[in-house]
Amino acid sequence: MRSLFVYPLFMSVSTLSPFVQDTAASTQARRHAVVLGGSIAGLLAARVLLDHFGQVTLLERDQFPAQPATRAGVPQGQHVHGLLLQGQQILEQLFPGLIEDLTQAGAIPLDWIADWQVFSLEGWLEQHDSGLRGLCCSRLLLEWHLRQRLLNNDRFHLRPGCSAQGLVFQSQPNPRITGVMLRSAADGPDQPSISADLVVDATGRHSKLPRWLAAAGYEKPPETQVNSFLGYASRWYRRPTDAIAKGVMIVAKPGESTRGGVLYPVEGDRWIVTLSGIAGDHPPADEAGFLAFAQSLRHPMLYDLLKISEPCSPIHCYRRTENQWRHYEQLSATPRGVVALGDAVCCFNPAYGQGMTAAALGAMTLQRCLSKANQTPQPVDWEQRFQYQLAQTLNTPWLMATGEDFRWPSTEGKRPVWLSRWLQGYFDRILRLSLTSSEAHRAFIEVAHLVKPPIRLFTPTILWRALTEPLR
Ligand SMILES: Cc1cc2nc3c(=O)[nH]c(=O)nc-3n(C[C@H](O)[C@H](O)[C@H](O)COP(=O)(O)OP(=O)(O)OC[C@H]3O[C@@H](n4cnc5c(N)ncnc54)[C@H](O)[C@@H]3O)c2cc1C
Repeated sequence: MRSLFVYPLFMSVSTLSPFVQDTAASTQARRHAVVLGGSIAGLLAARVLLDHFGQVTLLERDQFPAQPATRAGVPQGQHVHGLLLQGQQILEQLFPGLIEDLTQAGAIPLDWIADWQVFSLEGWLEQHDSGLRGLCCSRLLLEWHLRQRLLNNDRFHLRPGCSAQGLVFQSQPNPRITGVMLRSAADGPDQPSISADLVVDATGRHSKLPRWLAAAGYEKPPETQVNSFLGYASRWYRRPTDAIAKGVMIVAKPGESTRGGVLYPVEGDRWIVTLSGIAGDHPPADEAGFLAFAQSLRHPMLYDLLKISEPCSPIHCYRRTENQWRHYEQLSATPRGVVALGDAVCCFNPAYGQGMTAAALGAMTLQRCLSKANQTPQPVDWEQRFQYQLAQTLNTPWLMATGEDFRWPSTEGKRPVWLSRWLQGYFDRILRLSLTSSEAHRAFIEVAHLVKPPIRLFTPTILWRALTEPLR
């Protein structure tokens, strides 16, 4: 007999839905995956799971707006969300035609070098037509389009207003997850769980999966944190019709200013302006304070553009910006039938724009692991392999984000190894070279956008110039 134990409530097999009881005999087409969290990571995971499971259900505790609009579960939606080129490519691969749809909806195509005016640590970066074509839009528009695409699939079931409360564990014959405990106003108390052959946790930074695992007698994943005490304040503006600038970025500089700002073009002829302050020097939420903060940046360009633009939103603040990595890949024992990805595993200081792309890389890792597992006739324990491979994809963005954060002496957390400190010094030289060398600038953007590995910055010409050109 199977013994079942359940967190947080104890329940019997009979309360499980038919999916679980069918599983042993079911065909691939009848298998059921449940995704927790309906934000970017959850939507991308759901898209991948549709290739491998007969039915995919997504549980999201928020109600979804009918139009692209903010919602409580993702307060970061009011802030600039840059989509890196790697993320853009994966999204288009998973949802062919998405870029065109977003463009039709008002997203702004631009060249990441020609159309961005960046006041870097060393001054204005050179601009040239690079062919590195990106798309700028709000996170609200992007999430809405991903959701609509999934809703076109009748094997995809969206359950808004439905909060995951715990996991259903089966301990015999092998420990595994067989479902999710949930709370939903629509269902009332009669349907406390949904069964699943696979549960994907995409509930973000505040994921309770470690707690659920611990309550069932498993280890919690070890956690690494690096905190530069960055704070954001953002406001949306109407873009003046005669504005020439597309995107502007003024970067904070250690020893000179803890303050930075981005002016980011989005749909509806608007700009999102995000001001940021490191080391606790946070931008305020009141109008006068916001403008004064913008005026205090290292260069006046952003403030000058704000002065001629009409605000069209309140000012929104955000403070939880620490890098945080839950190392599921280091656990020696985990139950089968559950994996985690997106911010639930690793969130980054948002200033480097990596979170959505890391979620996309996680979805592609899931795709690869499931494809491989499905080729094997015997059931294989692929979940732990997935967490391990996911960790491999997170290494580079983690080192880039935390390496940047450790420029600031006030940053707290586990310091990087000597190699990444050396790399940071080398990146500084590349940045300096990017003021004058279009080749170095392009290579830097490719690495920062995760389309090329850091080795791209070590071609003979770039290496020679980076090491031999005198420091200014
Ligand atoms: C201020 C800020 C700015 C950012 N800027 C960028 C950027 O420029 N570029 C970039 O790529 N990334 C950026 N990010 C990161 C990006 O927002 C996330 O990495 C990305 O959205 C993926 O997150 P996620 O889907 O894993 O989690 P989240 O976006 O946090 O979503 C988690 C979802 O799970 C739901 N949920 C939570 N608990 C439950 C539960 N128990 N049951 C059901 N549902 C639940 C929540 O309601 C939410 O919808 C930024 C983040 C912040 C905070």
